[in-house]
Amino acid sequence: MEKSEKLIIIGSGPAGLTAGIYAARGGLNPLVIAGREAGGQLIQTTDVDDFPGFPEGIQGPELMSKIRKQAERFNTRFISEDVVSVDFSKKPFEIKTETQVLSAQTVILATGASAMWLGLESETKLRGKGVSACAVCDGFFFKGKNVVVVGGGDTAMREAAYLSKLCKKVTVVHRRDQLRAQLALQELVKSKPNVDLIWNSQVEAVLGQDKVTGVKLKNTQTGETQEFQIDGIFIAIGHKPNTTFLKGQINLDQKGYVVIHDETKTSVDGVFVAGDVADYHYRQAVTAAGAGCKATFDAEEYLENMK
Ligand code: NAP
Repeated sequence: MEKSEKLIIIGSGPAGLTAGIYAARGGLNPLVIAGREAGGQLIQTTDVDDFPGFPEGIQGPELMSKIRKQAERFNTRFISEDVVSVDFSKKPFEIKTETQVLSAQTVILATGASAMWLGLESETKLRGKGVSACAVCDGFFFKGKNVVVVGGGDTAMREAAYLSKLCKKVTVVHRRDQLRAQLALQELVKSKPNVDLIWNSQVEAVLGQDKVTGVKLKNTQTGETQEFQIDGIFIAIGHKPNTTFLKGQINLDQKGYVVIHDETKTSVDGVFVAGDVADYHYRQAVTAAGAGCKATFDAEEYLENMK
């Protein structure tokens, strides 16, 4: 095993890279385990119009590339591998990647969350061409248009409410006859005159060649199918935090999110957390970046106290 690192950051979305910038500037010589698919959810986004500092907007991949360059400018080091397992019962902590065993005095977990998809071929083909999982990121492109939101939970209601302010018509498609979302959000959506609900229906296919033109639904009770024209479809069936490798090592909640206390602390002293892996509520690049900064300050203080 190599000598122990002061700080290992796992994840390379806005949270992990911001932690890298702050930690490198703070003299911690951080190592970022960036993952095989580096850059987080923004890599799958097109125009980002709400990240401060880019008055004309910026493409998601370009934004991530810029933040990474900024971290590299201060000599943050990167490994383009996934973490396979961790052992937080040891001190220093042990982290196994696909080819290496690393050790660290402190760790920042910033592995993010991934939007869940329906798993349809047509959905994958049209992703970024009318299929999205983020109304705040992409809703603007559907101003005055007709869209579908799939799902019956809090996320779907929030997405529908947000889109109702921009779109001509929003149709929520839910697979059962009862919403899972909290009552207040259900009522909010039902109060919008341009939002309709279609019950007991699953998406069979997203229609269109180069862009979304419609959707094919199947009624789960009768088996009947229907097609109608839309310009966009937002899949809001939940997010999955990327914490499989953390099971048994750290406290996770029922949905698998890292349980957080005092802003960035986890159940393991010396292991900090930032971004969507512990946040199902805000889930914005800018909030994740802020959390990455906070986690670094807390890791720095922990290292100081270790001396
Ligand atoms: P969720 O509560 O798990 O709801 C997912 C919804 O998608 C459910 O209605 C589910 O249907 C549906 N669904 C799942 N898989 C599907 C599939 N393959 N095909 C069609 N529909 C499918 O997820 P979430 O709404 O993202 O919420 C996650 C957590 O974040 C929750 O704890 C929620 O309270 C929290 N959250 C809170 C807020 C807030 O403003 N307070 C906002 C967003 C999220 P069924 O109902 O039939 O299972």
